Amino acid sequence: VDLPEVEAALVARRQRVLGPAYRLFYETPVHLVRGEGVWLFDPEGNAYLDAYNNVASVGHCHPHVLAATARQAAQLASHTRYLHDTVLSYGEKLLSYFPSELCHVMFTCTGSEANDLAIRLARAATGGTGVIVTENAYHGVTAAVAEFSPSLGPGVPLGAHVRTVPAPDARAGDPAVTFTAHVQAAIDDLLRHGIKPAVLIVDTIFSSDGVFAQPAGFLKGAVAAIRAAGGLFIADEVQPGFGRTGAAMWGFQRHGVVPDMVSLGKPMGNGYPVAGLVMQPHVVADFGGKARYFNTFGGNAVACATAMAVLEVVEGEGLQENARKVGAEFAAALRGLRDPRLGELRDAGLFFGLDVLDGDRPDAAMAARIVNGLRDERVLISATGPKGHVLKIRPPLVFSGDHVGIFAERLVRVLARV
Ligand code: PMP
Repeated sequence: VDLPEVEAALVARRQRVLGPAYRLFYETPVHLVRGEGVWLFDPEGNAYLDAYNNVASVGHCHPHVLAATARQAAQLASHTRYLHDTVLSYGEKLLSYFPSELCHVMFTCTGSEANDLAIRLARAATGGTGVIVTENAYHGVTAAVAEFSPSLGPGVPLGAHVRTVPAPDARAGDPAVTFTAHVQAAIDDLLRHGIKPAVLIVDTIFSSDGVFAQPAGFLKGAVAAIRAAGGLFIADEVQPGFGRTGAAMWGFQRHGVVPDMVSLGKPMGNGYPVAGLVMQPHVVADFGGKARYFNTFGGNAVACATAMAVLEVVEGEGLQENARKVGAEFAAALRGLRDPRLGELRDAGLFFGLDVLDGDRPDAAMAARIVNGLRDERVLISATGPKGHVLKIRPPLVFSGDHVGIFAERLVRVLARV
């Protein structure tokens, strides 16, 4: 692709400075300088409709959040080894959104670290090492977590203690039955190899597997199975958490289960790096007696003040309800498109996976053309799933009906062209 001079120079500089392991979105990369609400702006001032970002979940550069960050940064920025109110006030507030069994929270800077801590705690608590994940799951970048993140591909080998199960696709039978059976088979396989199961960990909306949200409740049997085998259930809420699914604050709540641990990240600080792990006390009791946990930046005062402001906005602006309401409008608009290339839509709140098909076969090339076509129309989405044929649409929670209209109009234009 022929890029304008400025962008071509930035691409060359990236390769020089950052080396070969980074990837950019889109055939024509997007150069951004500013964000506001659901909009992102390039240096010429062109506005891009952000229908993908779940980090800036309450809207890019939200003034209430920025003010809280600035206020705390001007007062005290310190870690968790001094007495300070901020980490406790935020912890109490955050825990008030969870079932009462989940009553401790530990803070990290990234979702990867939260899952890394979760696996350490699980191994200490259960004496097991076995990990069960879905076939195309992503849980993070640390060495331990990459071992159970199969979406990283064949270049990143899975651990010998890791078993994968197919994603809960309702087209392959009732997930309440099939998913439970697959998890049970993985448990049996671990045991047959002399490996004691430690955890079943799932992203509760199965985002990188292609988005599998329905029917609510299907996780119950699998959670019972891992517990019966002496293992724990970890809900990875890094993507669905903080109101996105509309029905509830957390994705696991749609399934009527109470996890042993819940990992949080991305939208928690609306762009400020803050993440954490919420847990039941039995998970950490033994570990806490023997080991200590210190994360220099995890739970620092500025992170907690920022995260507190994010919760205030989610609550004050009714964003979970907005995700439910606008999500339903968005789903209706997408289902109304009636293009033969668009297959099943799977959704919960403002989280959508839309299959792109050639006949009844996955069509990743067409999905890529749609994603790039939308980028040229200044609408940002991506594609997901093991075959890359699922359009992944996941806008900030402040998305409105008007934004849905803009999105649908531009998607129709793209579909007519690609
Ligand atoms: N879990 C899930 C489900 C994720 O999507 C991600 C990030 N894409 C992570 C964990 C890791 O979070 P982070 O990038 O903050 O380490």
